[in-house]
Amino acid sequence: MSHPSSVVLATAALSTIAAGGTLAYAALSPQSQLFGRTLIAGRDPGEAALTYDDGPNDAATMQLLEVLARHSVRATFFMIGRFVHQRPEIVRAVSAAGHLVGNHTMTHPWLAWQPDRVIREELRGCNQALEDVLGAPIRYMRPPHGARRPAVLRIARELGLTLVQWNVMGNDWAPIGPDRVLRKVQRGIEAATGRGRGANILLHDGYHQGMGADRSATVEATDRLLAQLRANGQRVVTVDAWS
Ligand SMILES: [Zn+2]
Repeated sequence: MSHPSSVVLATAALSTIAAGGTLAYAALSPQSQLFGRTLIAGRDPGEAALTYDDGPNDAATMQLLEVLARHSVRATFFMIGRFVHQRPEIVRAVSAAGHLVGNHTMTHPWLAWQPDRVIREELRGCNQALEDVLGAPIRYMRPPHGARRPAVLRIARELGLTLVQWNVMGNDWAPIGPDRVLRKVQRGIEAATGRGRGANILLHDGYHQGMGADRSATVEATDRLLAQLRANGQRVVTVDAWS
């Protein structure tokens, strides 16, 4: 056998997943618990967490900080290590404003398809990048695309990281404009509330393929969403409130 064993295992897992619906669901659905505990949302439907992935990003991240400060709320930012290296000053500004910073890997691969060695390098590299800038340990990670397999949870745990998914999406990775982002989030919050859960809202201040993506729709949708949450009496929390 010329393959390293981890590659063989990954290949075996991949063909199992391709063959059966249940494992594919477990690997890809953000709400599946089959592969172990992940943090989604608390049991208080009056709570909502705003989470932003794929930054730090020029323009959008700092604009979001202004909006969040104006509404006096704190959010959670899952950052990509290679962008952390490029924009440490934005990372520091996010943390200094009181927001929670989490790990979103070094280069944003689909972790479910990676060998253990790559999963470990991706998570450890991003932790290192963030901890070098912030001087404090990182406790939360979100897997790119929500994809995972048991090894992702195990390695995350070894590194002291809690895996965080979501239960509300804004689909703001697509160029759909602030109105549709907001409507999608509103419907998701209604669904989560209807199930008696808090809302863990996935939005994007960055774009995993490069620095400088236009996220003005996300910034505007956030501003309007926060006005609505306040009008509805919902409390905005960071994801560590649910751990
Ligand atoms: Zn991402």
